[in-house]
Amino acid sequence: MTEETRRFGTEVGRLLDLVVHSLYSDREIFLRELVANAADATDKRRFMALSDGALALPDNAAIRISADKAARTIRIEDNGIGMSKEELAENLGTIARSGTAAFTSQLASAKPEDRPSLIGQFGVGFYSAFMVAEKVEVTSRKAGHEEAWEWVSDGQGEYTLKSAARGAPGTTILLHIKPDAEEYLEPIRLKTIIRKWADHITWPVEIEEDGKFEAATEGKALWRKNRSEITPEEYADFYRHVGHNFDEPFATIHWRAEGTVEFNALLFIPSQKPFMPVEESRESKVRLHVKRMFITDDAKLLPNWLNFVVGVVDTEDLPLNVSREILQSTPVLEKIRKVLVNRVLSELKAKAKDAEAFKAFLENFGSVMKEGIYEDTGHAAEIAALLRFASTKEDATTLDDYIARMPEGQSDIYYLAGDAAHLKTSPQLEGFAEKGYEVLLLGDAIDAFWPGRLGSYKEKKLVSVSQAGNLFAAGDVPEAITNLCTKLKEALGEDISEVTASSRLKDSPAMLVAAEAGPDLAMQRLLRRAGR
Ligand code: ADP
Ligand code: MG
Repeated sequence: MTEETRRFGTEVGRLLDLVVHSLYSDREIFLRELVANAADATDKRRFMALSDGALALPDNAAIRISADKAARTIRIEDNGIGMSKEELAENLGTIARSGTAAFTSQLASAKPEDRPSLIGQFGVGFYSAFMVAEKVEVTSRKAGHEEAWEWVSDGQGEYTLKSAARGAPGTTILLHIKPDAEEYLEPIRLKTIIRKWADHITWPVEIEEDGKFEAATEGKALWRKNRSEITPEEYADFYRHVGHNFDEPFATIHWRAEGTVEFNALLFIPSQKPFMPVEESRESKVRLHVKRMFITDDAKLLPNWLNFVVGVVDTEDLPLNVSREILQSTPVLEKIRKVLVNRVLSELKAKAKDAEAFKAFLENFGSVMKEGIYEDTGHAAEIAALLRFASTKEDATTLDDYIARMPEGQSDIYYLAGDAAHLKTSPQLEGFAEKGYEVLLLGDAIDAFWPGRLGSYKEKKLVSVSQAGNLFAAGDVPEAITNLCTKLKEALGEDISEVTASSRLKDSPAMLVAAEAGPDLAMQRLLRRAGR
């Protein structure tokens, strides 16, 4: 059989260099990454087998690791979905997610202790094999296919592909260990690494010792343990694993729901904004398990405006062989979703009591939450209550505190949306200070949208200052001014709808206002830019 030599995608070469050289002191994570890939592949096969019985996993499906000191190799074998020839080239020879540039810059600025987790986060885990191996051989047979393929590379810019033999579907990764990485040929060392990094893998992980394969993990799903049995470190490790994140969780929410629907949930809110490639979907990736088995991460367990929450939900109320169709129609998921969103909201309410800590949360995820006001009217008021805004009086205020400060005579909530840098000096604000009316200064891009959608908060209307013209209706207008208004209207014609006198302006001679009905000025600007 002929052998084919191909070059890595240009990004891969740079990345390999970076991974191999900058993560030297954390080389042991190669095992975590390869075992995680094997577990993902086994999950995938299990899920595919639900609709195609021919793909069913063998009963003893596991991830098996063995080291051969004489040959200086480590072998990692799985019963997963496997890869076809083209998938080998695509998955191991190019970088699907275009994150290299971002990865490079984050890696450069990350603290050394954060670097190992960056690798998993950017989906470049496989390449970490080259930290310990001078040559990597991947033999894979895709489930449902007869033929197997072998991918071989020394990580120096090229790889080869050739036809191979493999008795059953799955993937074998053979690492030819570098002379300075011989420590990893000790089974006990491998076991320690697995216990440290991969204890929550739900498939059996076995390591060969004295000719026998022995279980290396406890295999008890963390989310099924009691809170009292779990240390903060275990929570944080698991969080980094499911979220591909490298920070500490801002909030850890772990509970067992009982009642109309029963499940265990372990959810985390990140303390930092994760890197998100543009093409990444906006949908919640919270994982759904049934009786511990991973089913899918696209059951949309949380709404888009909580897409930053990561974690696992594990229920007994669905059958193990749940299909995609059932997932789409079952009322069980509807019930679970409802419980989850309320639980996360109440956690956020509790967290909001610590204003300083909550500020960082809002900086990271406030804009995403605002999308919820737009998309999820059922929760809009609760979301609005959590947010904080700059105003003409405060650096950051809640809507409730704003209302508490409203002077006698003020009945609406006033805001000015626009470009953050210019809000404070906008002529639109003239007149409000004199009246003692506070104005919220909304500088986020999405701020042009949600106030109109929310309409009112606690029965106080949200009014754009650019539409609050009648607040300043002038009393007796001198004839000269009335004439001027008429002349201006004649001169400007159809570009404006009317010119009126106002008591509002103090320093500026004239200003634009928007009609009370319809889009405010910030929204009109956006619409013009969009060419409407
Ligand atoms: P990620 O796991 O984040 O996608 P990796 O670099 O770890 O990134 O792996 C790249 C891809 O290679 C995986 O998405 C998967 O498609 C494929 N792959 C890696 N290891 C295996 C395996 N053992 N079995 C099947 N596919 C695998
Ligand atoms: Mg991976």
